[in-house]
Amino acid sequence: MEFQHVLLRKSRLEALRRTALMDSPAEEAFDRLSRLATRVLDAPVGLVSLVDGKRQFFKSCVGLPSPWCDLRQTPLTHSFCMHVVASGKPLVVQDARQHPVLRDNLAVDQLGVVAYLGMPLTASQGETLGTLCVIDTRPRVWTEENLYVLEELAVSVMKEIELRAVREMEARAQEAREAGAEAEAARQRFALLAELSAVLAEGFDLQAVLARAVRLVVPLVSDGCSVALLEAQGRLRRVAVAHADPREEARLRALPEPSVLLAPKQVDAHPVVGHVRISGPGGASLRLPLTSHSRVLGAVSFFLAPAHPLGEIEVSLAEDVARRMALAVENARLYEESREATLLRDKFLSIASHELRTPLTALGLQARMLSRDASHLDRPLAPEVLARKAQVITRQVERLGHLVDELLDISRIAQGHLSFPLEDVDLAELVRDVAASFREELVNPGIRLVLSGVEAPMVGRWNRLRLEQVVINLLTNAIKYGRGRPIALELKADEAHAWLTVRDEGIGIAQGDQERIFERFERAVSEQNYSGFGLGLWIVREIVHRLGGAISVNSTPGVGSTFTVELPRGSSWMTGPLLH
Ligand code: ADP
Repeated sequence: MEFQHVLLRKSRLEALRRTALMDSPAEEAFDRLSRLATRVLDAPVGLVSLVDGKRQFFKSCVGLPSPWCDLRQTPLTHSFCMHVVASGKPLVVQDARQHPVLRDNLAVDQLGVVAYLGMPLTASQGETLGTLCVIDTRPRVWTEENLYVLEELAVSVMKEIELRAVREMEARAQEAREAGAEAEAARQRFALLAELSAVLAEGFDLQAVLARAVRLVVPLVSDGCSVALLEAQGRLRRVAVAHADPREEARLRALPEPSVLLAPKQVDAHPVVGHVRISGPGGASLRLPLTSHSRVLGAVSFFLAPAHPLGEIEVSLAEDVARRMALAVENARLYEESREATLLRDKFLSIASHELRTPLTALGLQARMLSRDASHLDRPLAPEVLARKAQVITRQVERLGHLVDELLDISRIAQGHLSFPLEDVDLAELVRDVAASFREELVNPGIRLVLSGVEAPMVGRWNRLRLEQVVINLLTNAIKYGRGRPIALELKADEAHAWLTVRDEGIGIAQGDQERIFERFERAVSEQNYSGFGLGLWIVREIVHRLGGAISVNSTPGVGSTFTVELPRGSSWMTGPLLH
């Protein structure tokens, strides 16, 4: 059993495994050598046999009878070669039938082996892996020359074997290198996504954050990258661009803003919904929507040079990048919205408390004076003094009521509940009535109010109360900001429209302020000089819009202002609630 120990030696089996030849298909390089051996030694069978612990495998078998030539292996019970492997020396058998050990070998009976000459195939580390052998079915005397030739051929076979082992090792090394490169690429992708998340979470200056993010994406994900955000008006605006090639980057920056979101132009059939994939001779590009809660926030485009493939990995990485960017855009929006809401609330609270305080102070003062006077029973108040005080109190109460109404209006407008029924209203009559109610405010400071175009009726489908509010607010402003100078209130109309103009010769409004004064809480004067919420014009504009009309201002600072309201007369097309 000594040879069993050699056959099963770990280092030998390991060397055999390294050749990767066991159970491999026949190869011409080995067949040629065994054929040559049979030819030169004039033997019917030539084998390249590799022996492990259980069997001998024929890498090459020339002239072997069926079924062995098809099986290309035998168990060790049929093996002469294992003796060569065990001893590491050539085996020379003239007639196996006379051999003390080999005569019982099953190869004698079943394979018809009579004469055998086997040379060890010994690797450079000294392990014998198998044999190159020739077999004859009749007794033979093997000459020195025969031994020499077979030994030389065995060296060639061994060279072939080692060549394969080297190739196999190289292939493995290449595989390992590729796996290493793939692992490195995966590591880089992972690092990129981690860094991208960190960058996107940094601060709330969205434009700066996205500009840094696209720089990160290039060139690991793509050669170029650009992000466009959806504006309130439904247009896309490019906010960040990066490209590995500075000239390409300049070209991308100079492109017109993308007008259509995800236009299905030249779209490849691509399984991912929402993707637009364009390929051309100049490379490929992939545009993905930036979405959050199924709301489209913008789009991110990836540009690839022709040499850069757009495979599954690139697409899924691009999707990941898009998801992270969308999250950052959404967060920045939410932050901005909540910041604006907080600012608006703070502004509102400070204005409201200031505005409510003034009439309350006046009211408190009057009340205290009244109760003090009432306590002097010996000196009863004269009726006209009492009436004057009552008037002051009424005016302050009215002012408070007006403020509270404005506050109610803003919450109604903000919630979309400012709806009103339409009725036939005579605007001329309405203007005359409002002007009359202002008599007091005008007479005392001596302001002249000139009305024109108010004699003939001017009827339209409007809402009386809301239209009164428009005229009152405009007239109040003309008085407040009119420096006591004359005010002109004019009406004009044609079949379809009516125009109301309120002109003053007051402080005027700078060009840069003329648009914003119509917004909520926007004022162009200081709180110290003029009290007010900054709501009057906003309410006017909302009402006018809901009546299908428009308001504009024309003003020169120090010269005066003209506000013009245009109203369609037959607003019959506007029924039902006007806000949503
Ligand atoms: P408020 O008068 O309470 O400030 P408004 O919304 O009515 O609020 O007006 C907004 C701003 O527009 C005013 O603060 C003022 O700066 C400017 N404004 C409005 N009307 C006039 C006017 N007739 N002349 C000059 N400035 C005006």
